Amino acid sequence: MTDPAQPGDGVIRLGIVGIGKIARDQHVPAILADPRFALVATADPHGSLEGVAAFPDLAAMIAGMSGLDAVAICTPPAYRPAIAMAAIDAGLAVLLEKPTAATLAEAEAIVAHAAAADVPLMATWHSREAAAVAEARAWIAERDVVAVQIAWKEDIRRWHPGQEWILAENGFGVFDPGINALSILTFILPQPVRIETARIAIPEGRGAAIAATLAMAAGDTRITADFDFLQTGPQSWDIRIDTDRGSLLLSDGGATIAIDGKAPRTAANIEYPAIYARFADLVAAGESEVDLSPLRLVADALRIADRTTVAPFAF
Ligand code: NAP
Repeated sequence: MTDPAQPGDGVIRLGIVGIGKIARDQHVPAILADPRFALVATADPHGSLEGVAAFPDLAAMIAGMSGLDAVAICTPPAYRPAIAMAAIDAGLAVLLEKPTAATLAEAEAIVAHAAAADVPLMATWHSREAAAVAEARAWIAERDVVAVQIAWKEDIRRWHPGQEWILAENGFGVFDPGINALSILTFILPQPVRIETARIAIPEGRGAAIAATLAMAAGDTRITADFDFLQTGPQSWDIRIDTDRGSLLLSDGGATIAIDGKAPRTAANIEYPAIYARFADLVAAGESEVDLSPLRLVADALRIADRTTVAPFAF
């Protein structure tokens, strides 16, 4: 699939751990399009890519590949800490898909381990790279934000077909997409965000929420979030921001922006190319980039949440 670069040529020889939906849809095309990377291996119990060396797990990949520089860990979050620790022990630069880990303590342990080993670590939040997010952040910086309304509603069957892990205790449920909204929120608002109340609905027999409603605040800014995993028909990934001088609507997960009711502007999806461009810079500089604030909000929401059991869910 790719011409594996040779050690010492400055190209980052990267392996993907977990070759599932997001790895295939986004990571592989972004890596192949960036000349600073060579995709040299995959590790996955079942999946593989044509023309790329395939291993059942990270240990086999490390043992079987010489000159590996980095890994992108695209497994479900519960498996990520052990994989990240082993990659760091092997001296590999690590890119983590979101959410960084299943718990804050695990995420902090990965960060500490990478720092102690002096290994570059990038904890990604792909929605922060959506085309209109930087413009929204700059617009907000010149205003006082009064209120924020988030509506993040998607169809689990369409976007996560058969992913039983996502509704397990450490699978994040509707917070798997919802944390994308929280990653944008914590990036564009100048003040730290805190959870005030949370209500979550968990299908009978499952461990994670299928819907959630949050009330949050940041300074005097009032924030609400409505997450739904059973949205059929039109899908909503919207953040509405009302300020002392106008309003802004981010939609399509941050790809589209409309200011003061004017015609929306949409730009191409550049989330994963932007992630890999930054990861290449971090690897070259030997630096890390980590912000756990979205994960902290989910942890706080789940700690204080008012829980309701709802009808069983099947894919
Ligand atoms: P997925 O389709 O279930 O893929 C995960 C892959 O990891 C599977 O092939 C799985 O193999 C493999 N895996 C599990 N344990 C492993 C291990 N120990 N070593 C190596 N491979 C292992 O899930 P996904 O949708 O790609 O999501 C993965 C992560 O990406 C999640 O954290 C999610 O939040 C994030 N993400 C997903 C999307 C999306 O639209 N789907 C978008 C952005 C980010 P088995 O199936 O054999 O267990």
